[in-house]
Amino acid sequence: MGTSLVIEIAGPEAEAADGTLDRALDAAIAELVRVEDLMTDWRDSPLTRLNAAAGTGPFEVPAELARLVARSLVIAEATGGAFDPTYKSAGKLWNFKAGPPQIPSDSEIAAALVHVGWQKVKVDLEAATIELPAGRALGLGGIAKGYGVDRAMAVLMERGIRNGMVNAGGDLKALGTHQGEPWKVAIKHPRDRERVMAVMPVSNVCLVTSGDYERFIEHEGVRYHHIIDPRTGRPSRGCMSATVIAPDAAFADALATALCVLTPAEGLAVVAKLPRFEALVVGLDGAVHKSPGLAEAPRPESDAR
Ligand code: ADP
Ligand code: MG
Repeated sequence: MGTSLVIEIAGPEAEAADGTLDRALDAAIAELVRVEDLMTDWRDSPLTRLNAAAGTGPFEVPAELARLVARSLVIAEATGGAFDPTYKSAGKLWNFKAGPPQIPSDSEIAAALVHVGWQKVKVDLEAATIELPAGRALGLGGIAKGYGVDRAMAVLMERGIRNGMVNAGGDLKALGTHQGEPWKVAIKHPRDRERVMAVMPVSNVCLVTSGDYERFIEHEGVRYHHIIDPRTGRPSRGCMSATVIAPDAAFADALATALCVLTPAEGLAVVAKLPRFEALVVGLDGAVHKSPGLAEAPRPESDAR
């Protein structure tokens, strides 16, 4: 997934000297690799094969992939299409890797936008099939990492871990406590990574941040980044960053991506409809917006983890 991975284990289970801890960590890492192998669109995978089969009718996929795509369509609907796995047709025109910036032409973008729209994706959970119209393609880069974090944590819990944190490049899930206290996560400012905007105590909850600072190219003074507005086919201009706190990391990951497409007010209106979700959004003007449940959030502390 092109990301770092940190797994921390706390509590008495961290002291286990019989090898169970090592085996739990190995199993969690293997689970993340398994999820990546299923859902990558960079190389051969069940997802790549599905995309190649667009226009040929219902295509059989692993049931787990069908379920995640079904969930991503639910999130697409909940966010008014700001999160949309079919963004991929337009997204693939943009290259955020090194090298001279390549800016697609208006006509290339218009041609790609014809194939953007989650409504035309058909998932049959019973048959484990997905049907894509010709030209349509799915990219799960906005949800797969969070899903991988959920799965890695599930594996740790199956192996007796009760206190731990799985952090895949900032998409994290915290379980139990760290030395008797909630785990603490610093939310940093998208333009000034030294500046801590809030320190969130987290326990049995996920925290995911997306933003325009992670992967971007600057070209003639314009910042082009990796979150695509499905309406325009261009890098989104909703906000600088969005942090979501939620019960599960897959939904948090997708929602954080969606909030980067929406304006802070639009995004917080979506969050208000989702029980147990909170968000902190930094607008393009640098202003910080918080959902009501975070308005009382603790001030930054120096011992942030
Ligand atoms: P990161 O993977 O860097 O943590 P995000 O979670 O915000 O970042 O996801 C961004 C990724 O999501 C992009 O690299 C791309 O794969 C995918 N993506 C971009 N725009 C959208 C969108 N509008 N809807 C769904 N997925 C998107
Ligand atoms: Mg995301």
